[in-house]
Amino acid sequence: MRQSCRMAAPSNIIALVVAAGRGTRARTASAGPKQYARLGDTTVLAKGLKTLLAHDKITSVFVVIHADDRALYDTALGELSAHPKLHAPVTGGATRQQSVLAGLEALKPIAPTHVLIHDAARPFVSAPVIDRVLAALETSSGAIAALPLADTLKRAGANDRIAATIARDGLWRAQTPQGFRFSGILAAHLAAAAAGRFDFTDDAAVAEAQGLAVQLVAGDTANIKLTTAEDMTMVERTASGQAVPDIRTGQGFDVHRFTSGDHVMLCGVRVPHTHGVEAHSDGDVGLHALTDALLGAIADGDIGQHFKNTDPRWRGAASDQFLADAVRRVTVLGGRIGNVDVTILSEAPKIAPHRDAMRQRMAEILGIPVARVGLKATTTEQMGFTGRREGLAALAVATVIF
Ligand code: MG
Repeated sequence: MRQSCRMAAPSNIIALVVAAGRGTRARTASAGPKQYARLGDTTVLAKGLKTLLAHDKITSVFVVIHADDRALYDTALGELSAHPKLHAPVTGGATRQQSVLAGLEALKPIAPTHVLIHDAARPFVSAPVIDRVLAALETSSGAIAALPLADTLKRAGANDRIAATIARDGLWRAQTPQGFRFSGILAAHLAAAAAGRFDFTDDAAVAEAQGLAVQLVAGDTANIKLTTAEDMTMVERTASGQAVPDIRTGQGFDVHRFTSGDHVMLCGVRVPHTHGVEAHSDGDVGLHALTDALLGAIADGDIGQHFKNTDPRWRGAASDQFLADAVRRVTVLGGRIGNVDVTILSEAPKIAPHRDAMRQRMAEILGIPVARVGLKATTTEQMGFTGRREGLAALAVATVIF
């Protein structure tokens, strides 16, 4: 609880970063302990350190590492190791608690007023979280970043049957940094060690055991502790931009000239008309433009390349098979069609009476909901070849999501 007496504001503040863990739950063959893993253009350890080193109230930073990890540490820090506020690393102990004690012992000659203990596996610590912990230390011997529980808690009984629901009122999840008056937390750790207790899971628990007041302040949901291999995969994807879907767009355009006949095929629908169109296939400008849009999105040539107009197999062919082939090509590459949009340029025939049937037919061929199939039509104000009723044209765009 917050103490009523006002204490001296933190003045000489050292950040102690605990990086000695073996990270067995997140360990990968390539990365070793997770604190040394790559994170975008930096590493897990370096990212958190940069935030701490940049904070103007933190006078210096010490890192506690495992005795075997000096080479990993040097590689992970790169030129950051020359930062004037960063001290040479301290060798930790067998457990996190022992590593923190080793770090605190190393600070004794400096005798800071306060220490902020932070886990290297929380690279997303932010300056506002640090500020809140430091502000609370003005009136409390200890303060930690933490978040109130949002999820309902269940206690499991036999065979994972729920034995009880735990009231979550007043329950918080502890994060780091955890800040303390240096003399108080050092004494608390020494007392715990003297009593042979090495089962504390954070420094606040060590402090609480000695009766120190520790204040909860708001942490940050982004300030996650990288624990499992899944956590690492998630942040690596985020850091490399792979969390943003790979969305590609293609466009298509097609024209066919009117000739004698009594109907045209448009967007897979037979539309009665005073003319037909000249074409090797059924001459469906809507489906041809749409096929090219899909092929364009995956940069796989065009309809004429895949279905040559000299090939007798495609004489009078229904154009739905061209579109279905483009869908197949998208699917083979692992793509998924996001949406399509087709515009028909026509003085006649009128498109509106057939619009719903055309959208339905294209949705069927594409295998996507009709809500993702746009269809519009326009005249060209009696200008140009479509305006002179010499033929039909169509434009199409398509998005493909990987
Ligand atoms: Mg064509």
